[in-house]
Amino acid sequence: MTDDTLALALRSIQGVVRTQFALAPLTHVRIGGPAEFFVEPWSERDVATVVRACKDLDVPLHVLGGGSNVLIPDEGVRGVVMQLASLNRIVRDGDRVTAGAGVSLATLMRGVRTEGLAGLEQLCGIPAHVGGAVAMNAGTKDGETFDTLVSLTVVDADGEIRVLGKDDFHPSYRNGGLGDQIVVHATFELREDSPKAIYDRFEASLKARNASQPVTERSLGCVFTNPGTGSAGQLIEAAGCKLMHEGGVSVSGKHANYFVNDGTGTAADFRRLMDRVVARVKQDAHVELTAEIKLW
Ligand SMILES: Cc1cc2nc3c(=O)[nH]c(=O)nc-3n(C[C@H](O)[C@H](O)[C@H](O)COP(=O)(O)OP(=O)(O)OC[C@H]3O[C@@H](n4cnc5c(N)ncnc54)[C@H](O)[C@@H]3O)c2cc1C
Repeated sequence: MTDDTLALALRSIQGVVRTQFALAPLTHVRIGGPAEFFVEPWSERDVATVVRACKDLDVPLHVLGGGSNVLIPDEGVRGVVMQLASLNRIVRDGDRVTAGAGVSLATLMRGVRTEGLAGLEQLCGIPAHVGGAVAMNAGTKDGETFDTLVSLTVVDADGEIRVLGKDDFHPSYRNGGLGDQIVVHATFELREDSPKAIYDRFEASLKARNASQPVTERSLGCVFTNPGTGSAGQLIEAAGCKLMHEGGVSVSGKHANYFVNDGTGTAADFRRLMDRVVARVKQDAHVELTAEIKLW
């Protein structure tokens, strides 16, 4: 495969195609090198075309959502990075709401609140796109993305567009169980409530989040999954890792499971800090922490 063959295949889609495209600005933590090819398809059919082209040419394909949970290497990403930001429509049908994978949760929240539809409050403040929230089964102690999900339109690994029910998936903690499938639309079943009551719950949830997390800083959210018992943040704090740093990345003083970038941090710094924290927690608590973030 030459770059020209791939470029030619990608040229047949409607949408944006770029080469050597900077990814760091598309991530919440502002870290990472460029994508060899970056594509933003305009329709689910174009998504399917990209999947088939990458499969036929044996090119690696990564899907980027809101970039709030992926650590992109400093040297960049080989192959294609596809972001679905153009799949950004929200449609209401009774109590059901269908959102494109590229809709930000913040936009979806504003929309459902105005419509007087409740049930997504547990996701308030998570800086994700709908596709990323489904892929990660994002959530909080109050609930998860799959709680109100009823169906998904996906593009499978062969480039086929399929509509699947919630029961076709086996989501678990921070894992939607999608495998190779790419979410293009998600439908949620909500319930009517007053916009004021919904707004009040959003407010309460954001207030609690702001009090306990470094929401104004550049991070990837929780770096490690909570082990069977207890919280990863508490283990990291108990091991004395708060404010530990590598280059421009440090363990947050507000929430020890968040690593924050002061603007000069690199993926190498981030990974070195992860290794040190894992070693310290293992020594201190005999627990092996595992990454919740996606390491590309
Ligand atoms: C400040 C902050 C607070 C956070 N708080 C929470 C929280 O309370 N709860 C929580 O669960 N998480 C939280 N996170 C983590 C993060 O927001 C979630 O994991 C979120 O689901 C990631 O969504 P994203 O759209 O940013 O996806 P990305 O980070 O871009 O991608 C994450 C994974 O999803 C895959 N993906 C993305 N889009 C698609 C798609 N359309 N189809 C298939 N796969 C796809 C990617 O390939 C990648 O593997 C937080 C992060 C930050 C920075």
